[in-house]
Amino acid sequence: MNAPTAASVLAPSVKLLIDGQMVESRTTQWRNVVNPATQEVLARVPFATPEEINLAVSSAKKAFATWKKTPIGTRARIFLKLQQLIRENMGELAALLTAEQGKTLADAEGDVFRGLEVVEHAAGIGNLQLGELANNVANGVDTYSILQPLGVCAGITPFNFPAMIPLWMFPMAIATGNTFVLKPSEQDPMVTMRLCELATEAGLPPGVLNVIHGGEDAVNAICDHPDIKAISFVGSTQVGTHVYNRASLHGKRVQCMMGAKNHAIVLPDANKEQTLNALAGAAFGAAGQRCMAVSTAVLVGEAQNWIPEIVAKARTLKISAGVESGTDVGPVVSCAALARVEGLIARGEAEGATLELDGRKPEVAGYANGNFVGPTIFSGVKPGMAIYDQEIFGPVLCLLGADSLDDAIALINANPNGNGTAIFTQSGAAARKFQEEIDVGQVGINVPIPVPVPIFSFTGSRASKLGDLGPYGKQVVLFYTQTKTVTARWFDDSTTTGRVNTTINL
Ligand code: NAD
Repeated sequence: MNAPTAASVLAPSVKLLIDGQMVESRTTQWRNVVNPATQEVLARVPFATPEEINLAVSSAKKAFATWKKTPIGTRARIFLKLQQLIRENMGELAALLTAEQGKTLADAEGDVFRGLEVVEHAAGIGNLQLGELANNVANGVDTYSILQPLGVCAGITPFNFPAMIPLWMFPMAIATGNTFVLKPSEQDPMVTMRLCELATEAGLPPGVLNVIHGGEDAVNAICDHPDIKAISFVGSTQVGTHVYNRASLHGKRVQCMMGAKNHAIVLPDANKEQTLNALAGAAFGAAGQRCMAVSTAVLVGEAQNWIPEIVAKARTLKISAGVESGTDVGPVVSCAALARVEGLIARGEAEGATLELDGRKPEVAGYANGNFVGPTIFSGVKPGMAIYDQEIFGPVLCLLGADSLDDAIALINANPNGNGTAIFTQSGAAARKFQEEIDVGQVGINVPIPVPVPIFSFTGSRASKLGDLGPYGKQVVLFYTQTKTVTARWFDDSTTTGRVNTTINL
């Protein structure tokens, strides 16, 4: 939380969404939402009081009684309307996102668009929320299953995709018949609130979607609340592990998608120009603040000679505010994030990695106060160095060497994280071996950021994920529903025997 300043007192307040109304919080604790390119205070966000959190949950609980009985088609049409509203407001949503988060306008549109795809998917939920029926499992007996909504579900989201990740959560939960309480990142809640406003405009009844703001206390209150049945979390491994443990102790379903250290393997037969472009885009795009960023490249054999070209490609990227046309790399989200990234670069040097390109303290015309760090590249990186062991979450690419594909695969499988990975090669045999042997959830073959579209589900693994079912897609329908089986026999006169059955047989 920040001490109030003249700018922050004058800044508009971010509202809570409770029972269909945008309401002013009565809290005394506020935090500034700051433009990371300029340090301008855009708004102040409240840390909701325990009473406000309880009100949001009780509103969601009350709304569930009628929402769960609302026909599939009625629910679906609200998401059809929401997708239209998001399209109509795309420019405004992207501008808001860039202002508070820092990424380029084109990337901000991408952030909204990947969320929009989930909204479109939610509109077709009737195709996925189907039960099964087995006819005549015993004489005159049928068994069928029903996927029923759980009740009040909650979502806790990170700063780096403030449009896409909330849209991974509430549309799928609500379309399957649940009601929802969302706790967006306190660093950039404004675009999330605009999306929730559009969802209300699209026709969600009061109480079906609620939003509270805050940090650790709000998250703990969600984990502990007896009326919340399931929690979707996306964020760091440290916080996600805490949420998983605390909420599980309270008997909730929990899915946590967490931190990463994504490796790309570059084989010498790869298409060089495409690989260099892909590496630069995936390592430095969004200033490296993507959970699927390629932060580590393992150059195999002769590909170790490509380092000068990787550096040359990175030098072509333009560093500036996300609103400036032609920008490739915007600022990192906060002054604290900048200090952390710069500190890790210093540790990389101290621990013996070779600093091939130093992006610290770039000159950015017109944005002297921005949180900028340019593309940075280390070679000679080894496990045990802080820049390898930690998720840097900045535009820093670590290069390692390997003698063979086997060695590169072994290195990746020895890393605790399993979010995403990619191989660059023209060899189908090498790509297939990689796909089969790599122990990572999302695998790209000449695709650097292999995030699946919503007809699949997001599938991180190992230390990058807790809980079995992933966000959006088919898996999340199972996450947000309880399977009930019904075994039924209907009697008519010809089947009535009058005999008592004391066995377990039907
Ligand atoms: P974060 O863990 O700091 O914050 C995530 C959420 O947890 C926020 O809503 C925040 O308010 C809350 N929070 C923060 N500290 C808390 C605490 N001590 N106790 C309880 N709640 C707390 O993450 P972030 O910095 O906002 O996001 C970046 C991280 O998210 C990176 O590690 C990135 O890899 C990860 N991420 C993962 C995925 C994925 O799908 N695997 C996607 C996006 C981001």
